[in-house]
Formats: sequence, C-alpha cells, structure tokens
Amino acid sequence: MGDYLVRGLSANGEVRIFAAATRDTVEEARSRHNTSPVVTAALGRLLTAGAMMGSMLQGEDILTLQIRCDGPVQGLTVTADANGGVKGFALEPQVLLPARETDHKLDVGGAVGSGTLQVIKDQGLKEPYIGRTDLVSGEIAEDLTWYFASSEQVPSAVGLGVLMNRNNTVREAGGFIVQLLPGASEQSLSAVERNVAKISSVTDLLKEGKTPEDLVNLVLEGLSPEITEKIPTAFRCGCNREKVSKILLSVGRKELRDMIKEGRDVELRCQFCEEAYSFTPEEIKRLLYTALQSDLKLTELKPPQNDGAGSQTETEQPENCGAGGQTETEQPENDSAGGQTETEQPE
Ligand SMILES: [Zn+2]
Repeated sequence: MGDYLVRGLSANGEVRIFAAATRDTVEEARSRHNTSPVVTAALGRLLTAGAMMGSMLQGEDILTLQIRCDGPVQGLTVTADANGGVKGFALEPQVLLPARETDHKLDVGGAVGSGTLQVIKDQGLKEPYIGRTDLVSGEIAEDLTWYFASSEQVPSAVGLGVLMNRNNTVREAGGFIVQLLPGASEQSLSAVERNVAKISSVTDLLKEGKTPEDLVNLVLEGLSPEITEKIPTAFRCGCNREKVSKILLSVGRKELRDMIKEGRDVELRCQFCEEAYSFTPEEIKRLLYTALQSDLKLTELKPPQNDGAGSQTETEQPENCGAGGQTETEQPENDSAGGQTETEQPE
C-alpha cells in the first residue's frame, strides 16, 4: 500500500480531520536531496502537513509552505496541490546535530531555530492568500497549530512524525490535522483535546502499524467519525525542460551570450526534485533566438507609449545594459512616482 491521506468528519459535523501516511513520499525527498536525518525529519514533517493542507484546496490551487529560520537548516519550502502531489526542499540539506538530550529524538527544533512560517495559497486568477506567523518551536507541528489558530482563526491540533531506520532511510512518516469547525460544541472540543493528549507520538503509532484511518478513529474517538475521502499522495514535481529553459532565459541575455561563447554545456537543477537539465550551446542559442524573436514581436505589436509609465518598453533595455533586467526597473520609477524618502528630506 503506497502513501495516502484520508479526510474525515465527526458524526455531528463539528470536527474535521486529515490523516496521512507518507513514508514513500518522505523517503523520495530524502534520496533526491540526500538530506541528513534531522533535515529528513524536518522536511518530512512539512511535506506531510503540505500533503494534508493541499487537500484542503480546490481544483488547480497550489499551496506553498515556506519556513525561513535562523537554525542551520536556514529554510524549508514545500509545495502541494489539491490531488495529493507534494514536493519540497531544504536550503541546507546536510545539517548534522546530536539527538536531543531529553528524549533522544532528532532535534528538528534545533535545526530550524526561530523564524517565520509563511503559507501561500495560490488560487489562479485571484490574488494569492498569504498568511505569516512566527515559529513557536521549530518542531513544525506546533508551528502549524499556532498558524491555524492565529492566522486562519481555526482551532486545530497537528501531529507529525518521521521515524528513521538505522541506515538513515525513512521507516515511517505520517500525521494528522484535526480542526474544530465554526460553532463546534464544548463537548466536541473536550473530546478532541482528551484524545490528542493521549497521543504521545505519531511515530510510535505508525511503528505499531496504525493507518491513517486508525489515526482518525483515535483522534475522533467518541465522535463517531466517518471517512469521507481517500487520496493517494506522492512526491511529485511538475518540472520539465520547457519550464527550466524559461528559468535559464531569465538569467539575462548577456550571460546567455557568454555561455554560448564559452562553448560549454550548461546544467540546471530543479530546486524541488534535483532533476538535472543540460543545455548545449547550440540549444541556448536557439532559446535566445526564439526569445529575441518574441521580444521583437512585442515591440512591433505595441506602439510606443508616451504616457510615461512605460513598463512595456523595458523589455528592450536589458540587452544594452547586460546585467539582466532586474535592477533597471528600479530607476524609471523615481521620475514618475517620486522616490518618497529622498524628496521629502530637502535638508
Ligand atoms: Zn523538479
């Protein structure tokens, strides 16, 4: 049985729950990124949460969980879709830390440290929803619990766990998210609190062979839960040559010309899955040519505009200055929008 997650609901409709078994997903992340055990645990917890939170979305929506932190792992990013697909990476995959003295477990909180958790829900045409909270402990589950309470105002409990084998592969991974829906009764609340308090460790339950359905029954014990949906989940990255070639083009035209001149293949790696894409000078030349062609078409289609804002015309400039677009956009704004700080301080 591969990885999957389930959604469930209490019989009174007041409590919803997500539970997941994600060993293969986390093991794939580990082997793709060659993460150390503590980073495997940190990333695995976030991937597991991402898979469950992704299933809260609809259709083509995309969820991103981003941790920026001062601990040695520096940051973690996970992206999930609504159909069980999830991917992610750590900024520093090789962190080695001694096990925590108190319980001899992997010191995820020590690897993460303090920082922020950002949750981005990209709903296609609409402005993305962005919620940001400070990390509570860096242990991921507590941080997400606090995020749900403070940013989404949804009282929740989150349990996440990753257990490693002696050879540093993933033995078990999974978790749950339980949430009180608006207007939930005191009885529902205390039942969930009581049940969650009884669960000392998600990994212990997984080690005993408990399934996501079992987790639902444990967390919603006494509330007659019903499983409403079961979704296969997996590490999935949607990268391909075309997308990567766009990233390559974004490094700037002059840099591309230099690459062609050097006559060496250029290799780009997908940050999320470590898939390598190699481009020959000949291919880069073709990409550059196509890009220049479409630039020309753009300028032909758009008559020069005199009203000053002129964002369209900027596409022509990067070639002259070479450094590749980004910095130039800062300058034109000063004239029109009036660099606020400078002009207000005449002294
Ligand atoms: Zn990829």
